[in-house]
Amino acid sequence: MRDTTQDPAASPRTAAVIGAGLGGLALAIRLQSAGIATTVFEKRDKPGGRAYVYEDAGFTFDAGPTVITDPDCLRKLWALSGRRIEEHVDLMPVTPFYRLCWEDGTVFDYADDQDEIDRQIRAISPADVEGYRRFLAYSRSVYREGYEKLGTVPFLSFASMMRAAPQLMRLQSWRSVHAKVADYIRDDHLRQAFSFHSLLVGGNPFATSSIYALIHALERQGGVWFARGGTGALIRGMVALLRELGGTLHLSAPVEGIETEGRRVTAIRAMGARHPFDMVASNADVVHTYRKLLGDAPRGDRLAAKRHSMSLFVIYFGLKGERRDLRHHMVLFGPRYRELIHEIFTADGLADDFSLYLHAPSVTDPSLAPPGHSAYYVLSPVPHLGTADIDWDTAGPAYRDRILDYLEARYMPGLRRDLVTVRHFTPHDFRDELNAHLGSAFSIEPILRQSAWFRPHNRDDRLSNMYIVGAGTHPGAGIPGVVGSAEATAGLMIAAAAAVPA
Ligand SMILES: Cc1cc2nc3c(=O)[nH]c(=O)nc-3n(C[C@H](O)[C@H](O)[C@H](O)COP(=O)(O)OP(=O)(O)OC[C@H]3O[C@@H](n4cnc5c(N)ncnc54)[C@H](O)[C@@H]3O)c2cc1C
Repeated sequence: MRDTTQDPAASPRTAAVIGAGLGGLALAIRLQSAGIATTVFEKRDKPGGRAYVYEDAGFTFDAGPTVITDPDCLRKLWALSGRRIEEHVDLMPVTPFYRLCWEDGTVFDYADDQDEIDRQIRAISPADVEGYRRFLAYSRSVYREGYEKLGTVPFLSFASMMRAAPQLMRLQSWRSVHAKVADYIRDDHLRQAFSFHSLLVGGNPFATSSIYALIHALERQGGVWFARGGTGALIRGMVALLRELGGTLHLSAPVEGIETEGRRVTAIRAMGARHPFDMVASNADVVHTYRKLLGDAPRGDRLAAKRHSMSLFVIYFGLKGERRDLRHHMVLFGPRYRELIHEIFTADGLADDFSLYLHAPSVTDPSLAPPGHSAYYVLSPVPHLGTADIDWDTAGPAYRDRILDYLEARYMPGLRRDLVTVRHFTPHDFRDELNAHLGSAFSIEPILRQSAWFRPHNRDDRLSNMYIVGAGTHPGAGIPGVVGSAEATAGLMIAAAAAVPA
């Protein structure tokens, strides 16, 4: 293992990555593949960040991301060193992508099957079959402009933003995802079905830029995948690849500070020591990075004043028996959509109703639960702590019970009877475990005036060798987003390293 306390002069190309989230690990793999000796410092006892794993009573629970889209962005990490992802990770296609359920009994199974989509749309609203096709064409054009062309390039200058502006204007990116969907689709259920996706990256469909309508095309194009053994298996695979490439990962190693000299960072402080590096990239929350680690209070305050994405309340539970009537990914819409989302982003308390995402991975992968059992998580989007300063120590158990009662009454009869293990994660945990500002689940909210150049940059504007990777920088949250941010940030770091004489 490399000694990270060595004099950097002995090896002029060294990098520290603060945080082993998906973005941090993807960046470390890219840097190490390019010959930059890279060390990752992770605060928690396991890597993954939001993609942490709980193991309770023989069940394996992925804490966060479960819907893997654009698997090619992951495959590329292995291809950099002539490897194949299959050496470490078995990606399985998930069909349908999602089952969407409403309280009036409407069900929509959404998958990459045009005939099946047409059939289901026709059954709900015949007039919308043609509208959906036009929406799909729109989504594909935003995907090409917003994802393929701009998803992995850093926006360091306003000029780079201006170059992209004509296309973004042509695609009406100032309008919201829901407004664009409503241009094409009339039925309210279907409007929900094709607009909820931005919530998966922390965006309010009624406020977030219509650029995020690209998620629909992204799913149709690349499919929805699940790593056998859970997203935790993907994380383990990324760590194995990093180590095989010669990189280093320190766990239970919170970084306490980043040292600077003039306009350069020189070292980080962690594990009771000072570690000099040529370059530092932070995968930690951006407010935490600037306020606490860099001690730059004005910059931290400016970032703190931005709009932050909502938080989540997540319940992980294991049951006796299997539930074959469920699908792997389910969205359970409550009685209200627009009003509920508005409250999640603005109200100072919890709404009486909720819309839920239910993860039932045992449908695809029985290995996540003991034989004859099944593993689940259910999440409810909730306000972050700046919107609603809820005392989650008392509110949490009651909210958990309300959600479990709702699931039992509508979707999972006998849930309480079959319950083997249960735990929950609140906005306080996002704040305390992950150092997330206001307990936000997705960092800075993806609205147009906080996207691309308007988002914290992949390289700091003042400190020439300080970089950001992950949900808080361009392009933003979600697996493809943070893995894309790693490509953008790595490009800058590798170019900087190449400019230093060896
Ligand atoms: C419940 C949930 C479900 C989701 N579902 C999906 C999904 O299905 N599909 C999808 O694409 N996306 C999903 N997302 C979004 C996606 O998980 C995140 O956007 C992404 O994982 C964030 O990655 P990141 O690189 O920003 O790092 P993070 O996961 O935020 O990790 C940052 C790391 O930095 C560490 N850290 C913080 N401070 C320090 C410090 N001082 N020193 C050292 N380490 C530090 C933290 O401990 C953490 O490990 C979901 C998110 C959540 C919360």
